[in-house]
This record gives sequence, structure tokens and C-alpha cells, in this order.
Amino acid sequence: MSNPLWEARADLVVVGTGVAGLTAALRARELGLRVLVLTKASGEDGNTRWAQGGVAVVLPGEHDEGDSVDAHVRDTLVAGAGLCDEAAVRAIIEGGPAAVARLRERGAVFDAAPTGGLARTREGGHSAFRVVHAGGDATGAEVERALLAAASDGRVPVLEQHVAVDAIRTPLGQVCGLLVLDGNGVPGVLSAPAVLLASGGLGQLYQATSNPEVATGDGLALALRAGAVAADVEFVQFHPTVLYTGRGARGRCPLVTEAVRGEGAVLVDALGARVMRGVHPQEDLAPRDVVAAAITRHMAAGPGGVDDHVFLDATGISDFARRFPTVHAACLQAGVDPAREPIPVAPAAHFACGGVVSDVDGRTGVTGLYAAGEVARTGLHGANRLASNSLLEGLVVGTRAAEAVAADLALNVLARCSAAVTAELPTAPVAARDSLQRVMSRYAAIGRDAEGLAVVGSVLDLSTADRVLDTRELVEDAALTVAARALIAAAAEREESRGCHVRTDFTERDEVRWQRSQVVRLNPSGQPVLADPVVEMGVA
Ligand SMILES: Cc1cc2nc3c(=O)[nH]c(=O)nc-3n(C[C@H](O)[C@H](O)[C@H](O)COP(=O)(O)OP(=O)(O)OC[C@H]3O[C@@H](n4cnc5c(N)ncnc54)[C@H](O)[C@@H]3O)c2cc1C
Repeated sequence: MSNPLWEARADLVVVGTGVAGLTAALRARELGLRVLVLTKASGEDGNTRWAQGGVAVVLPGEHDEGDSVDAHVRDTLVAGAGLCDEAAVRAIIEGGPAAVARLRERGAVFDAAPTGGLARTREGGHSAFRVVHAGGDATGAEVERALLAAASDGRVPVLEQHVAVDAIRTPLGQVCGLLVLDGNGVPGVLSAPAVLLASGGLGQLYQATSNPEVATGDGLALALRAGAVAADVEFVQFHPTVLYTGRGARGRCPLVTEAVRGEGAVLVDALGARVMRGVHPQEDLAPRDVVAAAITRHMAAGPGGVDDHVFLDATGISDFARRFPTVHAACLQAGVDPAREPIPVAPAAHFACGGVVSDVDGRTGVTGLYAAGEVARTGLHGANRLASNSLLEGLVVGTRAAEAVAADLALNVLARCSAAVTAELPTAPVAARDSLQRVMSRYAAIGRDAEGLAVVGSVLDLSTADRVLDTRELVEDAALTVAARALIAAAAEREESRGCHVRTDFTERDEVRWQRSQVVRLNPSGQPVLADPVVEMGVA
């Protein structure tokens, strides 16, 4: 394509209709910007609607005795295992109360405590009850519902079934729009001096994940191709407990929220032995990486030889169906009654702690390109996300990114595309999704070693071919390919175990060599390579 077949213009184009994208779009609209939002699926189809546990926030006058923003910051830094950016952590956590208040003003209804104020639960790694929730365990569904309703009331145009393919850039490399495939696969252009990626995570890199089908790392790939850098991509959080539905489960698996353990459920093996006893002082409420790795180890040496699941005994929770209606329904569908029997569970890919390097205002290193939500790496999560910090990040950084775009527009520092945009659909390496997911699950999940990571590289070499990205499937497969390559490059280099990166050949944490993030960029032939963090991010 040299001339686009269709074209639209805006001040800001937002990719994604999850918590980050819609929050940003609503704020941009309030600030008087012409905003266009696109999603490759239906409005509610991202990770956001599946969030269960809630939003971690210390609300003024409504918190546990002794709890504070400082305590929330501390817990986040501990979970992040030395790789968080403390200033970013503080800025995002401090922004939480205002962000939650704004979300409630937009119509989101959180569960109330019987004593007044909002009900709060506790999740792994949190030292206090500070996670506010909605619909029991349906927080994400309520957040998504409220934001979509506000967007339609606020006349924010949302283009569904439109796939962002590539950034359009000026000869100087500034982003000035997006190349998009519409619902019929017809290429077109959205011209805008600012593009915000809020395209979510990459759980579909693995065979079993809590993430829905759209989580294929498209924004990460697009940003890398546009010249941005990514960091901490080796840190993929595996949720310790998704519902085990049988050997070889594929695609999105229902989550059993950590809040179930927060309310007293415990992990046991087939013989009833406690999995977390003696592993960590917080036992079943230890940080996620600790619990997921302990379950993986326990399964490898389980009473049945090599087990592929353990159990979560929630029979002591008296009102399970009322408190956790989503989990309860998923269990019943799988033939398990949590009130009477332990729930079979296993770890699965859940959250991308790393992503496109951006500041807490969403700015990346590329003029005109912004990122917020799970696609971004702000430094909040470090080597391991603290539970329920990601909806919070989407709310806070989504708002700040819209404000940054408005400020950058006012300062006239953004570029506009020339009147006649010509753009070609890109060609990129594309691996077969099935083999990619298989080798990533086998060799690059929890417990990696040099040999296994090299196998992933060889399989990708063999199954990759250059393709023109002219369908949604090819855009996604190309994104998964570049994300897998970035991840294995960083994971192979990091010869230590830290956070959710567990190396079986380097089991210790190495503070001398590795208390630093790794940065990835594309080389001129489009391959992810490690870059110098000092040059790219200004960090040692
Ligand atoms: C089962 C589950 C439970 C969770 N529980 C919690 C919790 O309790 N608390 C918490 O804080 N976090 C939780 N999380 C994490 C949290 O939900 C996500 O990190 C967060 O919702 C991500 O929001 P987002 O706006 O960045 O992206 P998403 O909500 O994932 O939205 C991404 C959007 O981008 C669109 N998109 C992607 N690629 C393209 C493309 N190429 N072109 C056009 N559109 C595209 C998608 O269609 C979608 O609209 C959970 C996640 C899961 C999966």
C-alpha cells in the first residue's frame, strides 16, 4: 500500500479499550483533545474485564491501623525484588486515591464494608488489607463496564475490530499516526501527533494463561519497531493459582484470585500436605513469584511423581459463593464445589512486569509515542508485580499520559504527518504460534536454563518466515515472535534468579552483577538485542 485506503485524524489515538486506554481517552476528552480509540476486538475484550482481586490503594481515613502510602510503597519495592524505580512507585501509589475517586465519579461501584466506607481485602505481599474490590471478585468487569459507559456518554469514539499494525513516522523518526487494518482487513491511516499504546500484555506467549486471546504483545512489538526500547521483559509473572481443568489445558484458564488465600484458603498437595509451610514467613500469602515457584517445585517432586497441579483448600470459607461468585461459577462449571472439596490449581502466565520503557507520564523515548498500562514499563513492578497494583497503574498513568499529551501539544513539540501520508504494511519475522507457545511453556516459563532458552531460539529460527503483516493473525504472530525473542535474549543473559525470573542453573540472586534492568531494542535487521541501559534509560 502506498496510499492508505481510508484515513481519519485526531489529536490523540489510543490503542486499547482496557483500564489504561479508556482512562486516558476520557481524560483527554475532558482536556478538550480530539481523541480516537481503537481495539482489535470488542470494547470489553482485554485483560481488564477479567481482573478479580481489586485495586490496591491506601484511601485517606479508610485504612488498617498503621497502614500508609509508605507501607504500600515498601511492599511494592519488596515484591519488585530490587528492580523497581522508587520514584515511579511513589508517584503512582500516591496518585491512587485520586484515581479511584475519579473512577467512582465515572460510575464504578465498589463493594461497601458493613461498617461504612469501602470493603478491603488483602493479597499476597501486602502487609495490610488495602485492596478495594467490586462485585466480590469481579472488579475488572465493573471497571470496564463503568469506563465503557463513560466513554459512550462522553462521546469518545471507539473503533472496534480495528488492528493497530505499525506506527507512522516522520523522516526524523517522530510518531505521527498509526497504520491500521479495519474490520474487513482494509488498511488505513489514523493521523495524530500523539499515539498512546494501552494494548495490554502478552500472556498468549504461553500455552496456559489467565489472559484472553487479545494479549499477544502487539504494542510491545509496535513500539520496538518504532525505535522505542523495552525493559524487564524477562519478568513474566505466573499466577500461582489458575483453575486446573485437565492435562494440556490451552488458552485462557479461569483464575482463582489470590484474595481466596487472603480470606484463609491454603495450598495443599494430593496428600493434604501444606505446600507453603516453611517456604516463606507469609506462607500462603507470600509474594506471587515465591508461591508460583514453590508450587512448581512441589509439583516436580509431588506425591504422584511429577504432578501437574496442586489444590487450594477453601472449604473453610463459609460464604464462598457470595464472596467469590466468579471463581465459584468457574469451579462449578469444571465440576468442583469449593465449599466441599479442594480446588485443583496450577500456575499460568499472568502478567508482563516489563514492557515499553516509559515514564509515569507515559512518555517513551520516541516523540509522539506514549504507553500506559500493562504494555508499559514504568518501573512500578520491577522483577515482580505486587498484586492489584496494575489496575492502579492503568488508572494513574492513563490519566497522566493524557495530561502529558495535552501539555506536549500545547508546547508544540509533537509532529504532524505530511498532508499525503504514504505508508507500507511492514514485513516482519513470523513464527508458527503453536510451536512458539509450546517451547515458551516448556523452556521459558518458571524455571529456565541456558540450554532450554537456546532450544527456544533454535525452534524460532526454524519456524520463522518473513511475512507482510496484512491480517490480524499475522500482526499478532509477529508480535509474539518479537516478544519471545526479546524475552529469551534477556532471560539468557540474566544469570541469576530474581522475582519471577527463575533460573535452575543460577538459583541465587546476584546483587553485585544483576541489580539492574536489561534494555532491549531492535537491531537494523529487526532482531531484539540487548542495549546499554545507561545510554537508553540513563540508569546504571
Ligand atoms: C484473570 C486476571 C485477573 C487479574 N486480576 C487483577 C487484579 O485483581 N488487580 C489488578 O490490579 N490487576 C489484575 N490483573 C491485571 C490487570 O487486569 C491488567 O494488567 C490490566 O487490566 C491491563 O489493562 P490495560 O489497559 O493495560 O490492557 P487490557 O485491559 O489488556 O486492554 C488491552 C486492549 O488493547 C487492545 N489491543 C491489543 N493489541 C491491539 C492492536 N494491535 N490493535 C488494536 N487494539 C489492540 C485489546 O483489544 C484491548 O482492548 C488481572 C489480569 C487477569 C488476566
